[in-house]
Amino acid sequence: MFEFLEHISSKTKILFLSMILILLPGAIISYLSLKSIQDKAENLRTKYHGTVNLVRDKLESEVPRLEMDLRNSVIESFSRLDDDADMKTWLRHLESENPAFKNLFLATAGGALTTGSFSHGWKKLPETRFSKDPKTTTSLKKAENAEFINKDYSAAVRFYNEALSAAVSARDQAMLLSRIGRNYFKLGVFEDGIKEYRKILQFTEEWITIGNVPSSVVALSQIAYGYERLNLVQDQLNYLLDLHQLLLDHPWDLSGGDYLFYLESTSHAIGEIVDDSTLLELRDKENQLLEQIEFIEHIRRNGLAEIRSHLLNGDPANLPAFQIFRTRGNSSIQISYCMLPSSSRQPPSMALGYQIDRTYILARLVPGVLIPVELGKDISVGILDENDSLIYHQNNKQLSNYLVSENLSPLLFNWKVALFDPDEKSIEQLSGREKHLYLAIFVGIIAVMIIGVIVMARSVIHETEVSRMKSEFVSNVSHELKTPLALIRMFGETLDSGIPIDEGKRREFYSIIRKESERLTHLINNVLDFSRMDDGKKEYNFEEADLVALIRNSLEAYKFHIRDMGFNIESELPDEPILLKIDKDAISQALLNLLSNAVKYSENRKYIRVTVRKDSFSAFISVADHGVGIAKDELKKIFDKFYRVPDDKIKETRGSGLGLTLTKHIIKAHGGSIEVESNPGEGSRFTIRIPLLQTRAGDEV
Ligand code: ADP
Repeated sequence: MFEFLEHISSKTKILFLSMILILLPGAIISYLSLKSIQDKAENLRTKYHGTVNLVRDKLESEVPRLEMDLRNSVIESFSRLDDDADMKTWLRHLESENPAFKNLFLATAGGALTTGSFSHGWKKLPETRFSKDPKTTTSLKKAENAEFINKDYSAAVRFYNEALSAAVSARDQAMLLSRIGRNYFKLGVFEDGIKEYRKILQFTEEWITIGNVPSSVVALSQIAYGYERLNLVQDQLNYLLDLHQLLLDHPWDLSGGDYLFYLESTSHAIGEIVDDSTLLELRDKENQLLEQIEFIEHIRRNGLAEIRSHLLNGDPANLPAFQIFRTRGNSSIQISYCMLPSSSRQPPSMALGYQIDRTYILARLVPGVLIPVELGKDISVGILDENDSLIYHQNNKQLSNYLVSENLSPLLFNWKVALFDPDEKSIEQLSGREKHLYLAIFVGIIAVMIIGVIVMARSVIHETEVSRMKSEFVSNVSHELKTPLALIRMFGETLDSGIPIDEGKRREFYSIIRKESERLTHLINNVLDFSRMDDGKKEYNFEEADLVALIRNSLEAYKFHIRDMGFNIESELPDEPILLKIDKDAISQALLNLLSNAVKYSENRKYIRVTVRKDSFSAFISVADHGVGIAKDELKKIFDKFYRVPDDKIKETRGSGLGLTLTKHIIKAHGGSIEVESNPGEGSRFTIRIPLLQTRAGDEV
């Protein structure tokens, strides 16, 4: 199976073996590296997931701990509560003790809601009516008639004043004063109107209402309006600020709609007068309040029913587990609550509600949790909100691409913990650069190995071919040697035997012996020359000579012999000599090789033409025949050593496959070249070119 290996030279074998020895381990190593990089990426992923899970678990376990702290401070301080004010104070105390929580509130089974700043929620103030006192009623009717039907505002002022002097209750008085003020305003007498409204402010009873709005709110806003009409801006501003403060202090003492209307319009009117910095402070307080109001409203709409039913159905004696509910609007609001223990001084069941403070979590809890966590080199932690935007980063960087992330529980607002690379690379990118390098090496090695195998295969084919040709050469040469030797011996013995031979025959025998020994000499010369040439030892003896004379003499020497074989030989030689530095023997050997081929490879059309010519640069010798010709594919190969065209007709002729190789070598040594034109079946023309100005090439073939 491996016979072909016998034909491969040991040089090639060693080369191939060393290639395998070097490249195979390289290929294995780069393959293993490639695989180890993939494993590395997988390991990195596992490691980062491990880290992110650790951070998540730590964060999530902190929340119940904080809630437990809150519960403990509830248990410690709850029994000391006595009344509404106490509850507010207690809630504020709890809030300051437990900064992780905000918006603490108490909810009762009855539906009442208390926060650190209010006790009942929006009041529903009743529409106030005048008392049915006959003295005031008559004047009041007259006044209303004058104000609304006759539009006689002076009369209206007079009649309202009459009613006022008869009015007993503070509420009636306040309402009448505001009507007098109103009519002064209608008359355009703003100073007088303002005076009337000011009187209302002197009532000390809290929250006398006019319509269903507290009288002080009505009075302050009307006074401010009056000053506005009088163009007394400073006074207007003072009253607006008073009103604003009043509203901030009593957020829950109006109905919700009225409150928000007054707050908004007052703050707007102030905004028209004062500059931005004062306004900023004002708005800040206002926003806090509005946020709180929004939260309370949210509980009222979405949570209170659930808390109440839990309070009514649950077991209040048992300080319960914390309950949570949440709703999702644009963003999620979560409220947690727990049952409070029953106390003799409190309604039997009450719940404490709270929110986890996002700001606290991000500013305190997360950094605290991260301190002991071992992160990889350069790796940092960030928190993403529910919209995937970064709301916290350990090193305060703004990064957007994370390595891995994990969802946090709803308790932590459905945020995500994420790990970041400082250059925002993904895990694939982190291990990718080396991966490409190893992949390139691996592919490179495999490619080199494939090329090596191809080169090796070609060399094996070539060497096998050369070795085949060598053995063919040996058999050809032995055959070439045997035939003339046998002939010489046979005719020599015949002549030597003393048998009487006539003169004609004798001459023929001598001629055969001479021709065959010539052929023998030619063959041996070729073989010896080739072996010298192959060893690089062939030497040339250059001398100035006339090429034309050399060719003419050589032709003279062989012409007879060639004609003898039935050939028609023609020559065309210039009259002028062509003087060149040449090795005369070598050139005539080259000519002889071409002539002997022309003879060997011609069948019926025995014609040879030899031409010598020159142009400005070179001299040319061509030998043309009308023989078998050479196929196109073979033209290049015929100059290779030992090569003989594998054709049955040619196989029959004797030859060594060395003639053209030798010829080419000789011509190259003269700095020239040899070319062949041929058509199978028509004949061939070999042309030798020797440059006139010679630069000799080396002795290689
Ligand atoms: P050899 O003649 O001993 O085989 P050569 O090197 O002289 O070796 O020639 C190589 C091959 O080239 C020959 O075997 C033959 O096939 C082909 N060849 C050479 N000269 C001619 C020619 N004049 N006509 C046809 N074929 C030729």
